[in-house]
Amino acid sequence: MAIAPDLVARLRDILGPGGLVEDQDDLAPRLTDMRGRYTGKTPFALRPATVDALSQAMALLYAAGIPMVPQGGNTGLVGGATPDERGGEVLILTDRLKAVRAVDPAGDTITVEAGCTLAQVQAAAAAADRLYPVSLASEGTCTIGGNLATNAGGIHVLRYGNTREQVLGLEVVLPDGRLWDGLRALRKDNTGYDLKHLFIGAEGTLGIITAATLRLWQRPRVQGVGFAALPDVTGAITLLGRLRQAAGEGLTAFELLPEIGIGFVLDHLPGAKRPWRRSRPGMS
Ligand SMILES: Cc1cc2nc3c(=O)[nH]c(=O)nc-3n(C[C@H](O)[C@H](O)[C@H](O)COP(=O)(O)OP(=O)(O)OC[C@H]3O[C@@H](n4cnc5c(N)ncnc54)[C@H](O)[C@@H]3O)c2cc1C
Repeated sequence: MAIAPDLVARLRDILGPGGLVEDQDDLAPRLTDMRGRYTGKTPFALRPATVDALSQAMALLYAAGIPMVPQGGNTGLVGGATPDERGGEVLILTDRLKAVRAVDPAGDTITVEAGCTLAQVQAAAAAADRLYPVSLASEGTCTIGGNLATNAGGIHVLRYGNTREQVLGLEVVLPDGRLWDGLRALRKDNTGYDLKHLFIGAEGTLGIITAATLRLWQRPRVQGVGFAALPDVTGAITLLGRLRQAAGEGLTAFELLPEIGIGFVLDHLPGAKRPWRRSRPGMS
């Protein structure tokens, strides 16, 4: 679908320098997903530097009937951030919306823009002697917007819950460009419908999340990691139950490593060592 040149010119005006990416070579890494399963096309991508510019640009695209696909770190594994192959969908990149707007250690909250990487949010929390507990292997690249849109889990769900459980408030640009301001930091908020939950896990289908107020936690003062070699999954579940009885909320993660998974790591990660001397059948 060809996009009218005057619309493109207006978008360029609204978004300012660097706000419209038209060079297909620059766009190429954004058009294929992490696993190389999906490749799409886009006429151009928006890279707004402010929420207001995003809002104005989306209003124009919406009025022209042009579909939009938000993309954060492009680490999603289900193709949600890849435009389709027809080439009519405009990509919206959030990598310039990356301010940490506020850190409030007294209220145990942090307010960040959607393009902040998860690692940046963890670091900003740590700098205030607090913990933002969501942790995924993609945390150096994935964004808070993407985490929210996918309700990302990670290794600490057992203790702290998914991303949804961390959210106190959201700011969202709706498809027609209107701003929905649901940025609240109040935990004891029992007013009306809790609309923020519609946007969490919606993969960007209901609007583009531009900022979030997230809850922070006290940092554990001491941490330990243990490995246990077990013959089967039933044994692992029994162990989990016993550890929870003994440690309660002190248990923050519990992962199963099948022997085949350890084999992959040993084969492909230079320097990796088996945590025990010999391989064992089944679970480790
Ligand atoms: C090595 C590795 C490990 C991973 N481990 C986990 C894990 O443990 N748990 C887990 O849940 N996932 C995991 N993932 C998947 C992925 O990292 C998460 O889904 C992550 O939350 C995606 O964030 P992103 O910024 O990369 O989003 P993207 O991939 O860019 O987008 C994902 C979806 O969110 C939408 N979106 C992005 N930004 C916004 C926004 N601002 N507003 C609205 N919609 C938006 C996109 O349109 C798309 O539908 C892993 C991925 C990798 C590569």
